[in-house]
Amino acid sequence: MPDTRHTKYLLSEDEMPKTWYNVVPDLPRPPEPVLHPGTKQPVGPGDLAPLFPMALILQEVSGDQYIEIPEAVRDIYKQWRPSPLFRARRLEKALDTPARIYYKYEGVSPAGSHKPNTAVPQAYYNKQEGVTKIITETGAGQWGSSLAMAGAMFGIEIEVFMVKVSYNQKPYRRSMMQAYGASVHASPSDLTQAGRAILAQDPDSTGSLGIAISEAVEMVATSGGKAKYSLGSVLNHVLLHQTIIGQEALLQMAQADDYPDVVVGCTGGGSNFAGISFPFIGEARKKGLNTRFVAAEPMSCPSLTKGVYAYDFGDTLGMTPLVKMHTLGHDFIPPGIHAGGLRYHGMSPLISLLHDAGVIEAKAYHQTSIFEANLLFGKTEGILPAPEAGHAVKGALDEALQAKEEGKERVILFNLCGHGHFDMAAYDAYLSGKLEDYEYPAEAVAAAQARMPVV
Ligand SMILES: *Cc1c(COP(=O)(O)O)cnc(C)c1O
Repeated sequence: MPDTRHTKYLLSEDEMPKTWYNVVPDLPRPPEPVLHPGTKQPVGPGDLAPLFPMALILQEVSGDQYIEIPEAVRDIYKQWRPSPLFRARRLEKALDTPARIYYKYEGVSPAGSHKPNTAVPQAYYNKQEGVTKIITETGAGQWGSSLAMAGAMFGIEIEVFMVKVSYNQKPYRRSMMQAYGASVHASPSDLTQAGRAILAQDPDSTGSLGIAISEAVEMVATSGGKAKYSLGSVLNHVLLHQTIIGQEALLQMAQADDYPDVVVGCTGGGSNFAGISFPFIGEARKKGLNTRFVAAEPMSCPSLTKGVYAYDFGDTLGMTPLVKMHTLGHDFIPPGIHAGGLRYHGMSPLISLLHDAGVIEAKAYHQTSIFEANLLFGKTEGILPAPEAGHAVKGALDEALQAKEEGKERVILFNLCGHGHFDMAAYDAYLSGKLEDYEYPAEAVAAAQARMPVV
């Protein structure tokens, strides 16, 4: 019987998982190799060494089921972990649904999202290998502020290329990065060839994560070995670090004497969705459960629901290795929606494989429906979610309403991956009726997909 008394489920510091969970042994088939952009041959660890410390490269290709979380990382995690799991009782009541809705809340981290779960270990492994400077990109600024915080903790200099539309929409995320000591550039910038090439084509470019990645990777490649690169999503090692979320949630659902029928998360590059869902995918495989997994993405940048599953570049200019993933085409520039963290043309290769194999489902939503869901959530549960996280809220609402229609119980678990306290300009636009929906940009996507590399 599910617990009928409690609203939140907490774990002690001692109960915090001591290992990350690697989904690779539980995949229905092995991951596809990463290819060199020139030779189109599989890359080895050595090819990635200019970009990442070796410890992270080894995690990227690891087939071990569990990987130990270093003690120094656990010590920092303990500041906000284990994070709470809530039963959304007032939301359930407002919806008048027979469904039981649970959410894991990652907005309790200092940066306000799940991103520090990987920023801290990434900074730690870089520090271990003597790296003094890390260059990265950020969309809405959640990742940039998380890495800036981790850099401050480990004494590493952080430089961030921030997507221009978000730089203008979210100036206080920039201030936050600067407060932690990072330097921040609006991307596209005139600091790199990649940025200058984009500006020459379109001086008013809003930027995109793909462009900002090109700028950051170019800066690292031309730094003469002085800086490393870091990515806040997409890559296997990033998703690995986020699995602490789902492992905690497994313990917390057991406390609640309940188990999810469906696990929901939003997907930009796939890291928070992987974080909540991968440990449950492992459980489903081990125990033969029929748990459903739903990834929620924006209609204007729908890589899982409309992308092709093919080899493509991770960045816009074509400088990164080729990975097999769901992609809208590497040079597709998504419309300037407020969920800046979801404006990415591609998707994590692990998530893409799981979607292609039918293990996970995907849904796409318009941004006004996201804000509508977030306001209902805020009015009932009190937390104003980030626009990105609102896609998961909306996904959970849909599941709960469907359960109501069918008159059946359904246990829903979703990841509330961040609060929206730096996104009030977006809420303001919605409340004043100025927020627009962008139709799915079918022609721009088709054109970008036609320019994808032939592998
Ligand atoms: C970065 C971010 C996202 C998108 O990235 P994922 O890797 O898909 O999780 C979503 N929500 C928030 C709050 C973020 O900071």
